[in-house]
Amino acid sequence: MRKKYSVIPVVAALSLFFLEGYCRAEFLTRTRIMMSTQVTITADASLQDIKEAFEVMAKIESLMNDYNPRSEIGILNRKGKLAVSPEVKEIILRAIYFSRITNGAFDITVGPLVRLWQKMGKEKRLPTQRELKDTLSLVGYQNIKISDSMILLEKKGMRLDLGGIAKGYAVDKAIEVLRKRGVKNALVNAGGDLYCLGKGPSGKWKIGIQHPRNMREIFGIIRVTDKAVATSGDYRRYYVIQGRRFGHIIDPSTGWTVQNSPMSVTIVAPDCTSADALATGVFVLGLEKGIKLINSLPGVEGMIIGEGMRVVKSSNWQKFEVSDLTERMK
Ligand code: ADP
Ligand code: MG
Repeated sequence: MRKKYSVIPVVAALSLFFLEGYCRAEFLTRTRIMMSTQVTITADASLQDIKEAFEVMAKIESLMNDYNPRSEIGILNRKGKLAVSPEVKEIILRAIYFSRITNGAFDITVGPLVRLWQKMGKEKRLPTQRELKDTLSLVGYQNIKISDSMILLEKKGMRLDLGGIAKGYAVDKAIEVLRKRGVKNALVNAGGDLYCLGKGPSGKWKIGIQHPRNMREIFGIIRVTDKAVATSGDYRRYYVIQGRRFGHIIDPSTGWTVQNSPMSVTIVAPDCTSADALATGVFVLGLEKGIKLINSLPGVEGMIIGEGMRVVKSSNWQKFEVSDLTERMK
């Protein structure tokens, strides 16, 4: 008998949809709100497995949320110096690696600029030259110094913002917990940053990519196994200032929010930390430089939807793509 599958958008505003309808009995799905988003775990696992995966994600959030003054990142930002836990050190090291390979387009020291643009959004004005220059002088991943577990932010007023990488890292940690507990098939989705372990109820996990302009439409479908997928888009979070739209991703080379940005960048990578950081970094780099970078990285594929819906795919993107119409309709 033909199985019936219907498209279930996780929530309307997510960039990536998990497209399985009726799960086989052994797949459990649980959702929690954490890291300012909806986190869903669907797994061929016990409730206890899923609970422990959520717990590790909650731990990552409590260490890394810079809006929480008691988190390690909150304390580091305030004091400029802190001996941190191994997870915080690991994510900072990985973030610096992505800064290097994106030529500084991805940079977790954008914290002061993120705050400045939030303020501009509230005050409905653009920053003055002075504000921009002063804030920009605090940004630069080269000014993070690490020795053993000690992290030092060299300039007074520097702030780390892990918003472009922490969700991916938390997804990887959840998958690590599930794997250790013997789980073979699971999907951990943190607001569109996700990892597909093994298979889903109908074979490889089927992921829908949000149309960047029509929120009710799915632009494309991919099938993956043992891979992470993440999207950065211009349509999810932005400020309107003087009638213009300013996105939430900042170009560290100018201090402005990314201008003439792609509409969306989707990355498939071996782990979700990489996928998350690269989606943000490629969003800053833009279409041409972005696709070059993706093609230069082994095991990484991507699709960029640029201005005017111009679509560019990396060399091997098509191996994930579901183009067959009947398969898409299932
Ligand atoms: P989302 O959080 O919507 O999934 P991203 O993963 O692209 O989107 O992360 C965007 C967040 O990353 C911003 O809200 C901000 O906290 C942070 N950020 C902004 N610009 C940069 C940048 N150039 N490099 C690293 N992080 C950034
Ligand atoms: Mg990101």
